[in-house]
Amino acid sequence: MSDGTPHPPEPTPLAARSPFELRVGLAGDVPELNLRAAIATGDVGFLHSFTTGSTVDGPGVRLVAWTAGCMWRCVYCHNPDTWNIRNGIPVPLERAIEEVRKYRHGLKVMSGGFTLSGGEALLQHRFAARLFAAARAMGIHTALDTNGFLGDRLSDAELESIDLVLLDLKVWDPERHRRLTAMEIGPTLEFARRLAAQRRPVWVRFVLIPGWTDDADEIAGLAEFAAGLGNVERVDVLPFHQMGRFKWHELGMEYALAEVSPPTAEATERACALFRAAGLKAY
Ligand code: SF4
Repeated sequence: MSDGTPHPPEPTPLAARSPFELRVGLAGDVPELNLRAAIATGDVGFLHSFTTGSTVDGPGVRLVAWTAGCMWRCVYCHNPDTWNIRNGIPVPLERAIEEVRKYRHGLKVMSGGFTLSGGEALLQHRFAARLFAAARAMGIHTALDTNGFLGDRLSDAELESIDLVLLDLKVWDPERHRRLTAMEIGPTLEFARRLAAQRRPVWVRFVLIPGWTDDADEIAGLAEFAAGLGNVERVDVLPFHQMGRFKWHELGMEYALAEVSPPTAEATERACALFRAAGLKAY
């Protein structure tokens, strides 16, 4: 029962039910210099949240840390609140490691592991590398979900502590890629080739968006590229959905895809078939 005394608001918990919780302004007034130092050292990470129980972010059941901060501007982004690193909770590295440690037995029993996603996790590459090294030291399977643009920030040794890269390939045509993401495709393809040269396991993630990424020739181009790498274990075709639409609205941002419907099951199957025709496993 309230005693009438105003209490400060409860801090936002690190755990979330899903990354679709809208989270903004959680870094508060961390001075710019401290924020830059945290990014440079990895002593502190800026996280949207941790979620448990995912079965779609790598093998088995996963603990996922969702980072804040992304320099891409995908028109379909499901989590635009993660674009701004200041929307994340400042989390000391040791606290994040503790969170992973808490779940280590369960993750092993469920043949799962730890996945770092975002936002774009490599915007905080020092934090990512140190957290992966700690998870690996606990014997936990590690996965990085990335758009690959900043892959060259990780050393070869750091890549060794990542068991699986979930590489988001958006669309094949460079101009269409620019329209979809506001970024160049080149660095992502370069990272894909580097992972292939080092024989690091990769799962490709491809979001199927009617009218944007569903051109058969475009998908075939991506499929041919991915198949030629030789290290892509599977392709996940992810049907576009509207679970993030409310975030664009709440953030006062113009959402170009407000009226786009999810692809049909047949269209999703057709996209899978194009990847399979190139010799890949696609789901
Ligand atoms: S790369 Fe991911 S987080 Fe960044 S804008 Fe695109 S969909 Fe959103």
